[in-house]
Amino acid sequence: MNIGFIGLGHMGAPMALNLLKAGHQVYVYDLVESAVQMLEASGAIRAASPAKVASSEIDMLITMLPAAAHVKQVYLGEEGVLAAVGKHVLLIDSSTIDPQTARDVAAQATAHGNAMLDAPVSGGTGGAQAGTLTFMVGGEKNVFDKALPVLETMGKNIVYCGGTGNGQVAKVANNMLLGISMIGAAEAMNLGVSLGMDPKILAGIINTSSGRCWSTEVYNPYPGVVETAPASKGYAGGFGADLMLKDLGLATEAAKAAKVPVVLGAAAQQLYQTFSAQGNGQLDFSAIIKLFSAK
Ligand code: NAD
Repeated sequence: MNIGFIGLGHMGAPMALNLLKAGHQVYVYDLVESAVQMLEASGAIRAASPAKVASSEIDMLITMLPAAAHVKQVYLGEEGVLAAVGKHVLLIDSSTIDPQTARDVAAQATAHGNAMLDAPVSGGTGGAQAGTLTFMVGGEKNVFDKALPVLETMGKNIVYCGGTGNGQVAKVANNMLLGISMIGAAEAMNLGVSLGMDPKILAGIINTSSGRCWSTEVYNPYPGVVETAPASKGYAGGFGADLMLKDLGLATEAAKAAKVPVVLGAAAQQLYQTFSAQGNGQLDFSAIIKLFSAK
């Protein structure tokens, strides 16, 4: 297939590389020249704008951008995708954005004659490199079926979530729970260690007891408990605290629109905001334990 790819950052670059490895022809664009050069060196074809990607000989176009404002600009702007794309091109936005913007942009794509899916991911940069991402996909089921073989070259768990925007709904709900559970894991670990427990023994108890969750077992925020976790590597890499703050903001905004209370989600947002304001936004999000301890 011929595929356009816009947004070659931490996630987009390895995803586009996996498309190339699978034998697809990939047309790329990013604002950052070095990102484009890296993909070009691996066999991709550069385009000079989103509109130029869209008007290339493509069957599908994927975007992986930071936030809703970038998605609106890339699809709806003057040099944007919808200004130039053929009606046969299937559009997929994999950025994490709010469900309402995903629905608004998809409605404009539909009005233009294009099918569009929202397909945010989880699995982080490691999953993007390994091609093992989870895709949460919203849109028409028959469009999902067409996209599935391509998504399978970048992920291993591709889940149809229902109508347009539902991929973003699933992502926002999951990441709100992740933010809350990480803060809970940090509080519990810090309490236990402060009261005299060895952190590894405490984590072992929690992980065979009812407190167990992904944040305690796979990604424990206490240094030295899980060797592969960012906590054991100075909280470098992984999923940045500022990205978690962004996702908690999406959750609380979506909750406001739906008139649904998210008490712990809002508290988690405030704690990450405090942490970020202290200059820690680039650290992995498990470093939130620093709010509770000096570790
Ligand atoms: P990133 O900032 O590394 O990459 C975004 C890329 O988009 C950059 O290269 C930037 O230059 C490019 N870009 C911005 N505006 C553009 C425009 N107008 N035209 C073309 N390119 C433009 O971000 P990332 O870590 O790759 O994340 C991308 C999305 O995936 C975000 O929505 C994020 O929340 C989500 N996500 C990230 C992770 C993660 O672990 N990093 C995990 C899951 C989901």
